[in-house]
Amino acid sequence: MAFVVAIDGPAGTGKGTITKLISQELGLVNIDTGAMYRCIALEAIRKGITSIEQEQEIIQIAREAKIQINNENGNQQILLNGEDVTQEIRSKEVSGFVSPVSSIPKVREIMVDLQRRSAQGKDVIMEGRDITTVVFPEAQVKIYLDADVEERAKRRFKENQEKGMAMTYEETLEAVKKRDYNDMHKKVGALKIAENAVVVDTTKMTIEEVKEKVKEIILERRK
Ligand code: C5P
Repeated sequence: MAFVVAIDGPAGTGKGTITKLISQELGLVNIDTGAMYRCIALEAIRKGITSIEQEQEIIQIAREAKIQINNENGNQQILLNGEDVTQEIRSKEVSGFVSPVSSIPKVREIMVDLQRRSAQGKDVIMEGRDITTVVFPEAQVKIYLDADVEERAKRRFKENQEKGMAMTYEETLEAVKKRDYNDMHKKVGALKIAENAVVVDTTKMTIEEVKEKVKEIILERRK
């Protein structure tokens, strides 16, 4: 196995921003696994699927989807069947449907396989919910980023405002709590702290401080 940095944690802990910065600074390939599940949720919504009772159709979408993550200087471009969906997969609709979609065990099996193949032979930094526990439990570096739910909702709210997304703080907090609950109660691939993972509580830290802390942990293991 090449060098793998695996990072898990709930929504709003800054995983995306941190992995992007570190991938640029340390020359690691950045793989955002949440984006993969978001692609499946987006395609399902486009096909008029609104409930996971249509499990077979969603599994079929996961089987057929061609997901490509292009990395340039840590910036990711997400292609779904050749179309750039980098922005669209962050919509409120996709964010609301992605956790149920990713709770389907067969969808997870297909995505985990894709994630392992994407990392083959490369030095990577991969973030998600089950990277340290399921995808790469043998990763050289395993980190769990955490923060209080109110702080995470505040960060999401600010991000959404910057994107012009109309959601109040209360709505954002509710959405984050709902996703936390779903993510922590999945039958397969539930979000949990892996054995030997280093837990970093980012509640009172700036992005710069978190980045430095995570980098320090990686460099220590890379020696
Ligand atoms: O990281 P992000 O918020 O984009 O992930 C979107 C959703 O995809 C998560 O809330 C979770 O339900 C799902 N996910 C997952 N396993 C991963 C990454 C994301 O179940 N490895």
